[in-house]
Amino acid sequence: MSDLAMQNINYLPGVGPKKAEILKQELKIASYEDLLFYFPYKYVDRSKFYEIREVNAKLPYIQVRGRFASLSTQGTGRQSRMTATFSDGTGILELVWFKGHKYVKEGINSEAEYIVFGKPSAFNGKINIVHPELEKVNEGQAKISSALQAFYNTTEKMKKGFLNSKAIQKLQQNVFLSFQGKISETLPASIIERYKFLNLHESLKAIHFPPNAQVLEKAQLRLKFEELFYIQLNILRQRNQRSKAIRGFLFGTVGAYLNDFYSTKIPFELTNAQKRVIKEIRRDMGSGKQMNRLLQGDVGSGKTLVALMVMLIALDNNFQTCLMAPTEILATQHFETISQMVEGLNIKVALLTGSSKKKERQLIDGELQAGQLQILIGTHALLEDKVVFKNLGLVVVDEQHRFGVAQRAKLWRKNSQPPHVLVMTATPIPRTLAMTIYGDLDVSVIDELPPGRKPIETAHYFHNRRNNLNKFIKGELDKGRQVYVVYPLIEESEKMDFKNLAEGYEYMQRVFSEYKVSMVHGKMRPAEKDEAMQEFASNRSQILVSTTVIEVGVNVPNASVMVIESAERFGLSQLHQLRGRVGRGAEQSFCILMTSYKLSEETRKRMDIMTRSTDGFEIAEADLKLRGPGDLEGTQQSGLPFSLKIANLGRDGQILQFARQVAEAILDDDPLLEKQENFILSKQLKKLASEKMNWSMIS
Ligand code: ADP
Ligand code: MG
Repeated sequence: MSDLAMQNINYLPGVGPKKAEILKQELKIASYEDLLFYFPYKYVDRSKFYEIREVNAKLPYIQVRGRFASLSTQGTGRQSRMTATFSDGTGILELVWFKGHKYVKEGINSEAEYIVFGKPSAFNGKINIVHPELEKVNEGQAKISSALQAFYNTTEKMKKGFLNSKAIQKLQQNVFLSFQGKISETLPASIIERYKFLNLHESLKAIHFPPNAQVLEKAQLRLKFEELFYIQLNILRQRNQRSKAIRGFLFGTVGAYLNDFYSTKIPFELTNAQKRVIKEIRRDMGSGKQMNRLLQGDVGSGKTLVALMVMLIALDNNFQTCLMAPTEILATQHFETISQMVEGLNIKVALLTGSSKKKERQLIDGELQAGQLQILIGTHALLEDKVVFKNLGLVVVDEQHRFGVAQRAKLWRKNSQPPHVLVMTATPIPRTLAMTIYGDLDVSVIDELPPGRKPIETAHYFHNRRNNLNKFIKGELDKGRQVYVVYPLIEESEKMDFKNLAEGYEYMQRVFSEYKVSMVHGKMRPAEKDEAMQEFASNRSQILVSTTVIEVGVNVPNASVMVIESAERFGLSQLHQLRGRVGRGAEQSFCILMTSYKLSEETRKRMDIMTRSTDGFEIAEADLKLRGPGDLEGTQQSGLPFSLKIANLGRDGQILQFARQVAEAILDDDPLLEKQENFILSKQLKKLASEKMNWSMIS
């Protein structure tokens, strides 16, 4: 950016102190540069003029040319409205204003030709445009011409301060008109030449004033690339530096713990994916570098087993290890599974949660500091400062997206030198997103389910097919299977939802009177909840009606049907997680999504994807495309550590991948960005780092 671009927005023609203040407050625009990087959210083709006789209410924004025929005001005061008839010789269009009459009226010259721009609508059998934009034809001011008109998001406050989209466009124009030279480049010349990008000046001009659609696309490509490129360059450079600066514990040997476990405790063959992932992890831990690895794998892909084997390697090297889970149910389940799996191997395992009794805690604290306790499993309670290990070598975090960055960082400090970190998630994160959010983690993927699992068959029913559903459920129950029925429960309509749940419970009892039905929901006392769950787990009841509390922590292989009521109210990832509760045994399992008949386009797509795919990654990709990363389950809490101005992780995956490759190649050649030609890169990174706090502290 040239100095001019860095100038205070106060100096821009058209911006007085008042507007400057609004721009700062509402959009954080303080300089010319900030304004230039405030990008339009859409464009409207203004190269085409309609004839009024062609205009109908279905058209989007349109423009026509003509003259005013008449002008009149109806009503008084706040209720009043002003109507004009506007004609181009082919027909008559009504223009309507509900406010600003005086201002509009004074500006209209009945002799002059005008361009009217707006969204037509139908009212009382007539076509009109409410609050159109007016422009006199040949109004002789200097103007940057563009075939596509940019539209900018504005807030209420901005509109009140006369900063609507059109006004922002004028200001953009003023920035360009006040430039003598060019906006200085922020990408190295070599990249621009090699990939035939537009330069920054051209790109910014075209993004605000596109001469045509092709040039706009080129401008967008360059700006998206740049945005993603610097994020990747930053992440990759940090990762390089960190792996140089931080030494890791060397887990050089595999000893008795793992060998005994492997030869005596695993009743099945590991899947190839599990073997591959364990190899990747062992390579990390044996390299002398600190491991920072994300382990992704769909529900049921066998992550726990992988985690346990890796933990045993830590024990074989005389280190302690811990496993942190987001909920007490999940931590308890891990504790039970793992204790059982290592039984007889003489390994000391303990569980620590918020509800651990004081006495237990003291015992755990003592054994932990003495080094006798080898595996500690728990919730957030593990993070507390008073949990002190003698020699913690490996940390495993389950469902890591539920923990914040700061929480994970705490685990790093549990030893004088950071332990190895393995974070696991069953909420598959699309590659593009993983590369950005967890760009500084290495990623391992278990992309294969243990053999013999039959893919779950999924169907979408409207409510009118409830009888068919009941017949189907009956058939499964008669074969000895069990059934889940899940209802949504969200806070705003909690009462209503509870009523649905309770009614559903009664309904199932009535319809399936020869079977026993249990009910579980979040408001029950833990003991009651446990009892109901146990009832179902031990097949004393055959139907479990519940809210999403069963999402995690239930494993009932005999359950073969998952009915999700009001499925339209669940996100894709959540539907996928819920579905993962069945299909755990040898029998064919089914998932039925019940919805009402009236569904939005987006919901229909969601149901479609669910019936078509059982692949968590594919579903996550689709979710990202449908909803955008901000809403993507599993990223809400962690959030993106930066906001993107132009790139979209859902749609621009290819550009991202490309940007990453380019960044990798540059760092391979010049890790510290010291070469003359890369000066511009380190300068730009410094600048971005000063603007975007916490840009890199992601893992
Ligand atoms: P998740 O990845 O969802 O945590 P789990 O680790 O809970 O999956 O594994 C699901 C089930 O699959 C467990 O009962 C586990 O014992 C079993 N399992 C894991 N690996 C294999 C394998 N290679 N072959 C057969 N069953 C396996
Ligand atoms: Mg698991």
